[in-house]
Amino acid sequence: MATPAREQYLTLKAQHPDAVLWFRMGDFYELFDDDAELVARELHLTLTSREFGRGERVPMAGVPYHAAESYLARLVRKGYRVAIAEQVSPPGHGLVERVITRVVSAGTAIEPNLLPARANNYLAAVVRGPAGRGGAAPEAYGLAYVDVTTGEFAVTELSGPDAASSLAGELSRLGPAECLVPWDQAGALALPAPTTRYDAWRFEPESARDRLLRQFGVRSLEAFGCERQPLAVGAAGAVLAYLEENNPALLPLLRGLRTYSADAYMVLDAHTRRNLELTRGARGGAPEGSLLAVLDATRTPMGSRLLRRFLGQPLLDLAAIEARQAAVAVFVERRALRADLLGHLNGLGDLERLTSRALQGVASARELLALRALLLAVAPIGDRLADVAPWDAMEGVSSGAAHAPSSALQPGDEGLAAVRAALDPCADVADEIGRAVADGDDGRLIRDGYDAARDELIASIAETRRWLAELESAERARTGIRSLKVGYNQVFGYYLEVTHPHRDRVPADYVRKQTLANAERYITPQLKEAEARILHAEERIGAVERALFAALLGRVGAQAPRLLRTADALAHLDVYLALAEVADHNGYVRPEVHAGDEIVIEGGRHPVVEAALGPEQFVANDCALGGDGPRIALLTGPNMAGKSTYLRQVALIVLLAQIGSFVPARRARLGLVDRIFTRIGAQDDLAAGASTFMVEMIETAAILRHATPRSLVVLDEIGRGTSTEDGLAIARAVVEHLHDRVGARALFATHYHELIALAAALPRLQNLHTAVREEHGEVVFLHRVVPGGADRSYGLHVARLAGLPTEVLARAAVLLAAADNPTPPAPLPVREGGEDTPSPRPSPRGRGGEDRRSQPPAPPFLPREGGPGGLGPPPRANGVVKEPGPAPLEPARLAPVADAAGALPALLPLDGPVGAAAGAAPQPVPADATTAVVQALRALDLCNVTPLQALNLLARLQQQVREPPP
Ligand code: ADP
Ligand code: MG
Repeated sequence: MATPAREQYLTLKAQHPDAVLWFRMGDFYELFDDDAELVARELHLTLTSREFGRGERVPMAGVPYHAAESYLARLVRKGYRVAIAEQVSPPGHGLVERVITRVVSAGTAIEPNLLPARANNYLAAVVRGPAGRGGAAPEAYGLAYVDVTTGEFAVTELSGPDAASSLAGELSRLGPAECLVPWDQAGALALPAPTTRYDAWRFEPESARDRLLRQFGVRSLEAFGCERQPLAVGAAGAVLAYLEENNPALLPLLRGLRTYSADAYMVLDAHTRRNLELTRGARGGAPEGSLLAVLDATRTPMGSRLLRRFLGQPLLDLAAIEARQAAVAVFVERRALRADLLGHLNGLGDLERLTSRALQGVASARELLALRALLLAVAPIGDRLADVAPWDAMEGVSSGAAHAPSSALQPGDEGLAAVRAALDPCADVADEIGRAVADGDDGRLIRDGYDAARDELIASIAETRRWLAELESAERARTGIRSLKVGYNQVFGYYLEVTHPHRDRVPADYVRKQTLANAERYITPQLKEAEARILHAEERIGAVERALFAALLGRVGAQAPRLLRTADALAHLDVYLALAEVADHNGYVRPEVHAGDEIVIEGGRHPVVEAALGPEQFVANDCALGGDGPRIALLTGPNMAGKSTYLRQVALIVLLAQIGSFVPARRARLGLVDRIFTRIGAQDDLAAGASTFMVEMIETAAILRHATPRSLVVLDEIGRGTSTEDGLAIARAVVEHLHDRVGARALFATHYHELIALAAALPRLQNLHTAVREEHGEVVFLHRVVPGGADRSYGLHVARLAGLPTEVLARAAVLLAAADNPTPPAPLPVREGGEDTPSPRPSPRGRGGEDRRSQPPAPPFLPREGGPGGLGPPPRANGVVKEPGPAPLEPARLAPVADAAGALPALLPLDGPVGAAAGAAPQPVPADATTAVVQALRALDLCNVTPLQALNLLARLQQQVREPPP
């Protein structure tokens, strides 16, 4: 039969069957049964066993109480939920009473060592439902998230055709530690976050709404903005229920709910966030190598968290952006002030989390003292801001948080004046902590003079303590034993110690208690009496002090809205200072953000690559898109020449501008962007790992569907994951669609330099290429982006740089030469539905001779379209493109425009004469060799070949006409 302790254990375990139960027994948390085996395995604890009653022996493992936090951290990080059963009745006779005080999971942890200091720790909830009113879309989602260590609680509903992708984008922004999903949707939702299945009925709008109303003590959710968003309400209600169930102590921190709309901010899908490496570098999840790592010069954890949130949600509102810019600008200009304030913020600590720990009643005396030290620093900071944010500038600034559903500053109201206004030194709180909390190491929690009753208790034993203090000298005098000592230990309490040589002189009233190697310990009736008096009083003092401290925590907690608002103001100040510091050190400028659609960047740099390369090493580049100029830039150039860097740099500059930061450029005029999309061709996307051509196409399709004329689309090597013909066709169709239908501003990098011919047909497309210089057959990457298309891809040069064997390079050169002139000149395929532009426009940014693309050389190989809107591969036979059917011809489009040097018959062997290379292997020759040769000659741009190249070319052309194919 099971013992009462075993019964108790089983009852508690049944309350949370899916959690690992920690069962407090004295100085240990004991684990039994499967839980014991689990922690033995996961935490390498020793597995033993214990007998409950007769014959029932169960596996057991123990976690020592004093080391519990680190074991808890390891278990929770592995994704387990831990139920903690504490002893709630004093040990003594019979069974100790135990209850589960809380269940800890990744999303509900409050232990400092379980939390990332500089990032939020979110618990999210997601529920899917039918689209709301009037929605033709098949589904919509409710998303709620909370950080139980800061009190941030927000909710949104995502609907419309791209609801699923918005959800993925939001989850990628938040990176929740734990995500609740209804049991019955767990399979279908497949979220990119650690999920916890939770009762479906908890997500039901009706009961969820009641729970929210109860929590906030309101009668309608109108003030929170989610009254009419049932899915959002459902998700928020589930979060609340989960906290209530697992740790009700967390609930007081949630004082309001912020309803937001994901499209009130710049939309960044999950892929784009990852691809732009906003908060994590390419290598793993750490910030190293990310934009955040470059920007994060913040001095406080709350500042660092806010900067992360800024990066996650770039603004769309001009005034709000300018308010942040203005704050940054003040500190860029006023260096001394900046240094002064940074000094004040340095090591300031985490006001947000200290407040929440006070509110949950778990803050220690040390933490309260830290809170006080922090508050004392606030007033001087406010004083220093007084002259940059004068009070008269604060008209219209909303002040108190009394009715605001959130204590955070809101976009549009985040300027320095608002920051200054929200900075509340909470002197009353600091003062009370200062008067109340003891900072000595005598084990007292409360200071003298704070509470009369407590002081009286201490006074009541003062006489006894004095007697004790004087006992030693008194007894020495009485006994004549000069080495006599008074001591104390846990087991025997107070004692008198006499070394063995003096044993004979011990008085009769001494009672021997303990014998040591060289001494005897004694007690006397008076000593025991004094001891009892002191212990009894100490017990009461302890209880009184704990009660006083708890009451103090309660009063500090009651000021949480003020404290949190101050924390938010400090966080903003910290972020502005950090952005100013980075801007000043790295030479960033304040961009002119405007409502138009022109993006003009002069001397732009990639913030992360620049930081990695070191100053002066990065080659700055310009960009001009939108306005009256081109809307699409087609960037060609060899591998490793800086194409991807350039694309991301433009996107990052736009994003930085819209979080209110300065940007790495000489000058920038940036029209607001509503969404940034980036896609990387399948083969290039190493980070995604599992990415395939299919995924690439799905994502490209999503861009084409969701981009607007205000969007910035960045496509890097799209179409690479398939055969050249398919890839080229797809890449071309995508560019045409973006140009004709979407009208977004776009940057398209490709190694298909054949695509540069598109500029002839697409008036808003501009060719750019990354300049390279050849020196003695070596390619030097200049990393300079210049107008015009690249002449070739230099793949072999790169291969050579990489150390491919000479024979392989030579053979490849030969094959390439042959493949370069395979088909007779074909007219440029006709597009449908384009604008009727009669002739190719010269590039608006072309600078005379530098744009070699203006000459009409031979047409490059371009497959024809597969049909209207055809993204699929064009029908082919024997590798030759066939016209799918009668297509309306537009003669104006047929003007042969291409790349002069592109027709330079490809690469020359890098080492040795052509003859040697040719001799190394028999080479295939195109069917109509003569035509190819004539074509090549016609296209030859004599100004752009070196004598050696010319000789090599001549040799090869000669070979082509001499050796027709078998
Ligand atoms: P691509 O996409 O053309 O293959 P990347 O953009 O990946 O080339 O750049 C390759 C490398 O060249 C980068 O890792 C970086 O070190 C260097 N690089 C790129 N752009 C620049 C630049 N503007 N200035 C200096 N170095 C650069
Ligand atoms: Mg690249």
